[in-house]
Amino acid sequence: MNKAAVTVIGLGEMGRALADALITAGHPTTVWNRSAAKADDLVARGAVRASTVEEAVVASPLSLVCLLDYDIADAILRPAAGALRGRTLVNLTNGTPDQAREAAAWATSRGAAYLDGGIMAIPSMIATPQAFVLYSGEKAHFEAHEETLEALGAAKYLGADAGIAALYDLALLSAMNVMFDGFFHSVAMATSHEEGSAVGFTELLVPWLTGMAQVMPAFAADLDSDAEPVLAQGLDVVLASVRNMAQASRDAGVRADYFEASAATLEKLLAEGVTAYTAPAAVRRLRRVS
Ligand code: NDP
Repeated sequence: MNKAAVTVIGLGEMGRALADALITAGHPTTVWNRSAAKADDLVARGAVRASTVEEAVVASPLSLVCLLDYDIADAILRPAAGALRGRTLVNLTNGTPDQAREAAAWATSRGAAYLDGGIMAIPSMIATPQAFVLYSGEKAHFEAHEETLEALGAAKYLGADAGIAALYDLALLSAMNVMFDGFFHSVAMATSHEEGSAVGFTELLVPWLTGMAQVMPAFAADLDSDAEPVLAQGLDVVLASVRNMAQASRDAGVRADYFEASAATLEKLLAEGVTAYTAPAAVRRLRRVS
């Protein structure tokens, strides 16, 4: 069966991986990039190099955009706006929910169908079972191209609001970011000991975090429920260990700012009469800060 034609605009590390996956899956693929030479390998594999963005958009019913940021995507697409009518634009550039909604409104006003996406993979993971991509926008537009989008990684549709893919993308990235900060902190502590090595410590850390991640669905069930939380620890117990983490960090010559701030928050809560450490209370506390 003939595969649908696809255009990829933006051939950085990620855009090249996307175009490569589409070529491998048998889609006639047109590509455009500011630095045209980045298309050389793709052209050698069968892609067509467009000389302008407009030519790239016209070549396919579906265009994927993967650029550094939304301002650049906007600047690149504006001159080609006339070619968008009746075509679908999928913006996989990382951005905020409001940027996604603005881009959706702009593309829709030009007669294009618009989907926003968040790629949950690094380039080498594209088209492997580990990759997934979040999409939001009108469901009919997603369904029309779902089969093509599956060539990049599992395609997960989140809803009609164009901003929700960006929201979930950044929420997932925030968890990853804090996890890596925690990793670096813990390695700084562990390797302050003369017998500590990052590799040896990480062999303990990975199973520990993997096991702890299994608790998240139970926390999530408490968060979605109006009933009394099932998972609760004494706030005083948590505070004691957080104080110890701060002290042990300082003793090891490692910055303790995060744990000092965390201890201060827990002390304030205890002073207010809160006795239990639960997921709903932790999330409520975060929402209070704006
Ligand atoms: P790169 O830095 O490799 O590529 C950036 C792209 O933007 C290139 O096509 C570059 O063109 C283009 N670009 C930058 N500045 C301009 C400009 N002023 N005018 C025109 N084009 C410009 O980034 P990635 O490919 O890694 O990332 C692209 C998007 O994918 C980002 O939003 C990123 O967050 C997202 N992403 C990336 C992941 C990754 O692991 N790399 C993972 C998940 C998402 P040129 O080649 O001419 O410089």
